[in-house]
This record gives sequence, structure tokens and C-alpha cells, in this order.
Amino acid sequence: MRFSVLTVLPGLFDCFLREGVIGKAVSSGKVKVNVFNLRDFAFDKHRVVDDVPYGGGPGMVLKPEPIFRAYDHISERYGKPYVVLTEPWGEKFSQDMALEFSKREHIMIICGRYEGVDERVKSIVDREVSIGDYVLTGGELPAMVIMDAVIRLIPGVLGNEESLRADSFMGKGLLGYPNYTRPAEYRGMKVPEILLSGHHKRIEEWRREQSIRRTIERRPELIEKLIKDGKLSGEELRLIEKIKKEKSV
Ligand code: SAM
Repeated sequence: MRFSVLTVLPGLFDCFLREGVIGKAVSSGKVKVNVFNLRDFAFDKHRVVDDVPYGGGPGMVLKPEPIFRAYDHISERYGKPYVVLTEPWGEKFSQDMALEFSKREHIMIICGRYEGVDERVKSIVDREVSIGDYVLTGGELPAMVIMDAVIRLIPGVLGNEESLRADSFMGKGLLGYPNYTRPAEYRGMKVPEILLSGHHKRIEEWRREQSIRRTIERRPELIEKLIKDGKLSGEELRLIEKIKKEKSV
């Protein structure tokens, strides 16, 4: 899979693409990432990529020509990409979207800056994506959030694929279970006995129950949706009833 990122601040991606799981995925070639400086696609000697908004008002707007030229260059070099534009009002990024993106061959992410991009850029955009209801100074952090969530889903990127299955929002969409590591007791707080038992089946059942409990407590709307969509087994439904009863006592 390939990402082409278009930004006015390419240096922001240096550490992100060098360190940790993402760094390894890039250096091993499991994902190819090219970061393009939007200024390289400006025509004038000052490499201007923004201009004042028509109609007046505050701030600057990213001009259309450098973005279209970058899109043409990237398409010619690597084939037509699926184009994502970061926007605060875009579709909310989610694990489902990350899964969908991880199956694409080539994604181009356009990072907005200033007041955003000229509206005509939307003619080459397939998806406007937001990472949440707040406004950042630019689309670079959203681009890194999107790439991080997608790259870790590419087969072979995580050392242990099992950990993907246990993640929140994966599989049926429940939240993850509580984790403990050594020591077995710390400042009077003990690791649940069952996790020390070595009884794998019972540990699995305990973890599933904890996932359900956590989802009921933190994200009740997710549980209601799973029930409505018929995604839960009879046993899980009985467990939910039991937990709800306990809570109402
Ligand atoms: N004028 C815009 C508005 O009315 O919301 C805000 C522009 S913001 C200062 C600059 C750029 O940062 C945006 O064009 C977008 O690319 C990016 N951005 C800011 N917040 C974002 C978010 N929550 N999700 C995705 N991108 C965001």
C-alpha cells in the first residue's frame, strides 16, 4: 500500500515515519509513504501556495493550482490515488474507515492549512475526513492519525496479529478488556486471580465479560447498536442482561 501526502510542512512527518511500528513498516517496505511539499508545485519564484479569500475576510486560502499540479504529478508517477482531504467538518474517522482504507492501494492525503483549501479542490477529492469536533492549525496531525490507524492494520506490520483482534472497535466492535502485567500485587492492588490461574478458556470468558462490561459502562450506545444489528450471541445477550440487572440493583 502507498500513501502520498501533500503538505506545506513536510518536516512534521520525519519522526513519525522514522520511529516505532510505523518506522519499521516504512523501512521494511510494507507501506510506501511519499511526502510532497506543496511549495514544489507552485509556479512563482517565491513558491506561494496561498492567497487572500475572494469576498474578503480573515486568513489565507490554499490556492487550487499547486494542489491540482501535485495531484497530476502523483497520478502520473504512481497511478490515480484515492484522495482524502482533512477537514474539521468531514466524515468522522473511525476504525471501520481505517479498515476500509487499509484495503486500498494508494491514498493521497491533502493537508489543509490556514482557512483551508480553495473549494474547487473538492472536484478531485473522494472523501473529506475529520478526526474530531475541534479545529487544529493544519491537516498534518489528522494525516498522521489516519496513517497510523491504517498502517497498523496492514498484514505483517504488527508483530502479533492476535493483538489486532483484541483491540477496541475490532471484530464485533466491543471495547478492549483490562490488561495487567507483573508484579502480581502493587501498592495493595492485586491482579485478578483468574489471570494467574493459567486456565485459558476461563481467562477468555473473563476477558469477554470485561469487554462487555466496559462497553456497557463507557459506550452504552455501541451495545444497543450491536443488539439492534443482531451481532451478539445468545450467551452474550444473557451476560448483558445479567450486568444490566446488577447495575440497576
Ligand atoms: N476554516 C476552517 C473551519 O471553518 O473549520 C478551519 C481551518 S483549520 C485552521 C486548517 C486546516 O486544518 C483545515 O483545512 C484542515 O485541513 C485541518 N484540520 C483542522 N482541524 C481538523 C480536524 N478536526 N480534522 C481534520 N482536519 C482538520
